Amino acid sequence: MVKQKIVLRFPPHIVEQPTIYHLIKDFDLMVNILRADINPRKEGRLMMELSGNEANYQKAIEWLREQGLQVINLEQQIIWRSDLCTHCGACTVICPTEALVFERPGMTVRFAEEKCIVCELCLRACPARAMETLVENASF
Ligand code: SF4
Ligand code: SF4
Repeated sequence: MVKQKIVLRFPPHIVEQPTIYHLIKDFDLMVNILRADINPRKEGRLMMELSGNEANYQKAIEWLREQGLQVINLEQQIIWRSDLCTHCGACTVICPTEALVFERPGMTVRFAEEKCIVCELCLRACPARAMETLVENASF
């Protein structure tokens, strides 16, 4: 079983192809779309989490690349700079998955990376710039 967040970049000529349909039907993968920016006749970008059988996942990635899509692995994309964090809590209010939470009794912030869906809301919310993207060219 594999669970992996990726970004797909679609060249304009295949942006309207049923790519997600093929991932589900031909490779038996579960697709959780996290963010999308798709416009006809322009480059498309799709951030998603794929999960399923490891062999099927590898075949699907190979197939995507054969179709001309760029596949960017998003593992460990968001990093928390504990040295910059002031524990103000702004990110804990906005984080949709509770990847950033206050820990009691000290009321200090903790980052649970395994819960992060790479939505990047905390990057904009953090006044101390303590949240960063590890793979800069993967951001929307
Ligand atoms: S990127 Fe989104 S899910 Fe991840 S820690 Fe930041 S707000 Fe939470
Ligand atoms: S918003 Fe930034 S400074 Fe405030 S708790 Fe979150 S990571 Fe730390």
